[in-house]
Amino acid sequence: MIYFTYPGFRNKALTISYDDGLWSDVHLLEILNRYGIRGTFNLNSACMEEERRVDREKIPSLYKGHEIATHGAAHLTMGRCPITDVVKEILEDRKALEELTGEIVDGHAYPNGSYNKQIRLLLPGLGIRYARTAEDTGKYDLPKDFFEWKPTCHHNHQLLEKGKEFLNIDLPQFQFLMYVWGHSYEFDRDRNWNLIEEFCKMTGGREEIWYASNGEICRYAQAIRQIYTSVDGKILVNGSGLEVYLLRDGEKIMLEPGEVRKR
Ligand SMILES: [Zn+2]
Repeated sequence: MIYFTYPGFRNKALTISYDDGLWSDVHLLEILNRYGIRGTFNLNSACMEEERRVDREKIPSLYKGHEIATHGAAHLTMGRCPITDVVKEILEDRKALEELTGEIVDGHAYPNGSYNKQIRLLLPGLGIRYARTAEDTGKYDLPKDFFEWKPTCHHNHQLLEKGKEFLNIDLPQFQFLMYVWGHSYEFDRDRNWNLIEEFCKMTGGREEIWYASNGEICRYAQAIRQIYTSVDGKILVNGSGLEVYLLRDGEKIMLEPGEVRKR
C-alpha cells in the first residue's frame, strides 16, 4: 500500500492567503514570521502608488519567505470585464510582480472573489497554476480544482474554533489542509489583531504541520502526479523536480527529484 504524504511525512498542512498589499501587512508578517506560519500575499501592481499600500521597493524584503501572487494589476472585478481586459489584468500583474521579485509569479486570487467559467478556463493559458476564491468551505481538504481553490475560512469566521478542530484531528489515513484568508487591514478596522496572534500562537511551530505557501502546496500536489509505480509497488519513479514523501506499507520513503528506486 502506497500513501503520499506532505513533506516530512506529515498529513497536515497550514497556509494563509492575504490580499491587496496594504501597510497592515507589515504587522501581519511580523506575527506570522514569529510563529513560523507561511503563506501567500496577493498584490495589485498598478495600485502600489495609492495611499496605505506597501512601497514597491520594500516588497521583496518585506514578503521574504512567503509567496507573492497576482490579484489583478488594478483589482478589477473580472466577472464584469471583457475577457481581453482580464488577460491584461493578469499578465501585466504577473510581469510587474516578476520584475519586482525576480521570481516566477504563477498564483492568483480572484479580486472581489469574482470569476466565471470563461475566466477560470483562461488562467492556465496565462501561466497561472492556481486561483483562490472567496468562498469558505469550513473543511480541511485539498481543492478538487486548484483554479477554484476554496479556503477553509476567512479569519472572521470562527478562526480559533477551526484552528482547534484542525489541531485535534487524529486520522492518519487522510491528508488535511487548513487554509485561512483575509485582508490585514481588517485587523485594524475590527481592532482584533489579538485574534490572528492567538491563532498563530496556537497553530505555529508544530512538528506535525507543514507550513507552506499556496504555491508550494499546489506544486507539491502536481509533483505527486508525476510519481510512477509498478503494479507490485516495488519500482518507484519520481518524475518531478521536487522531493516527494510517501509511505509504502508503513515504511517512510523520500524520493529525490528524478529518482528511480527498485525496492
Ligand atoms: Zn482584493
